[in-house]
Amino acid sequence: MKDKCLQQKLIDGHFGLTFVSAIEDDEGVTSHLTDKEGRAHVVRSLYLVGADGGGSTVRKSAGIKMIGGPM
Ligand SMILES: Cc1cc2nc3c(=O)[nH]c(=O)nc-3n(C[C@H](O)[C@H](O)[C@H](O)COP(=O)(O)OP(=O)(O)OC[C@H]3O[C@@H](n4cnc5c(N)ncnc54)[C@H](O)[C@@H]3O)c2cc1C
Repeated sequence: MKDKCLQQKLIDGHFGLTFVSAIEDDEGVTSHLTDKEGRAHVVRSLYLVGADGGGSTVRKSAGIKMIGGPM
């Protein structure tokens, strides 16, 4: 999947970053991330998609509660 994504011209891959938090406004989203050296990165985008698993930091950052619980 990673190789396929990186072959797409419309996708810029930035692996190795940890999502920390995001702030949404009327025009989009400002996301705060850190790299392995602890440096801060700020990314501005129209949308933010959470694909970071059951304990999703993206979900928590959006103030969305998990439906259900651990099995
Ligand atoms: C022990 C175990 C066994 C399981 N067995 C099965 C099974 O047999 N069949 C089945 O259907 N499901 C099973 N599951 C559930 C299955 O793993 C999940 O449903 C599935 O992996 C969820 O996929 P996902 O892509 O949403 O999240 P994940 O596979 O959890 O991927 C999330 C990704 O986001 C990354 N990430 C997380 N936080 C951050 C962050 N802050 N910044 C940047 N990246 C981040 C993680 O490193 C990871 O690469 C199992 C789960 C566990 C824990």
